[in-house]
Amino acid sequence: MKIIAVEEHFQIAAIKKAVGSLTISSQMNTAMAAPPSDARLEDMGADRLRAMDATGIDVQVLSITSPGTQVLPPSEAVPLARDANDQLAAAITAHPDRFAGFATLPTPDPDAAAAEFERVVQKLGLKGAMINGRTNDRFLDDPSFRPILEVATALDVPIYLHPTVPSKTVQDAYYAGLDPAISTRFATAGWGWHMETGIHALRMILAGVFDRYPGLQLILGHWGEMIPFYLARVEWALFPLAKHLQRPISDYFTQQVYVTPSGMFTLPPFLLTLQILGADHILYSVDYPYSSGDDARTFLEQAPISPADREKIAHGNAERVLKM
Ligand code: CA
Repeated sequence: MKIIAVEEHFQIAAIKKAVGSLTISSQMNTAMAAPPSDARLEDMGADRLRAMDATGIDVQVLSITSPGTQVLPPSEAVPLARDANDQLAAAITAHPDRFAGFATLPTPDPDAAAAEFERVVQKLGLKGAMINGRTNDRFLDDPSFRPILEVATALDVPIYLHPTVPSKTVQDAYYAGLDPAISTRFATAGWGWHMETGIHALRMILAGVFDRYPGLQLILGHWGEMIPFYLARVEWALFPLAKHLQRPISDYFTQQVYVTPSGMFTLPPFLLTLQILGADHILYSVDYPYSSGDDARTFLEQAPISPADREKIAHGNAERVLKM
């Protein structure tokens, strides 16, 4: 069974340097018990391929690790995104049967981001874009980001919405006041990343983004960032008020959103997601190198699902959605 993993990260030294002094970078590191080494993140050659072989991952769809260019001033984000995308394309050219990629976009300059998105999909063959949450505390339903969503829709490629840390205001109000290490991890990998990203996706639905762009496809990690569990509740509470929407809230989520595990290999959220979304809207992901992926293949091979669903989730849906 071929496995295509679609939330697999790399870094380039220039972006690491640019984001390194920001508070968000130290928070991202505190979020994890054992952050991977720079060498492991930056490698897009032999070491990565060895790790993939050892864990039975056939293809990685690569993306720059968070926070990426979302947190940089436009003057830095624009050239660094181009550099990252060119390095990614070179790695894919060297190993076209093992690597594919999601673009890094300089979202602080939405027009430049749209132009870069078009360039890397049309000229470099990248499969979509990964955006690490808010840009300048604005979410993707903000009208300023429409040029980016227009390109995604016109080129029929998905946007992978990856977590970022909540704003300082949210962190102070909701996560502070515990042991500092616990507060930081509670605000990030232990809860905050996922609530933040779930809210981001729900905002896009409630703002009518998916009515404006009925062809837009969004990918969420971590089994849908809490939304599958609450989808019926969200529908019940919000749809009666959301008279501007053309369809029920759950329609947007089940028709225009795809979900991946991001290394969360436990059955209950997987089976819930499968019941809510169906097997056609689940892609696979390890979150390498933050998750080793040791259990990725076994989890899927032993999951109590049909052989046809297993093949879709392992590779078929990625091949369809990402045109691989
Ligand atoms: Ca990740």
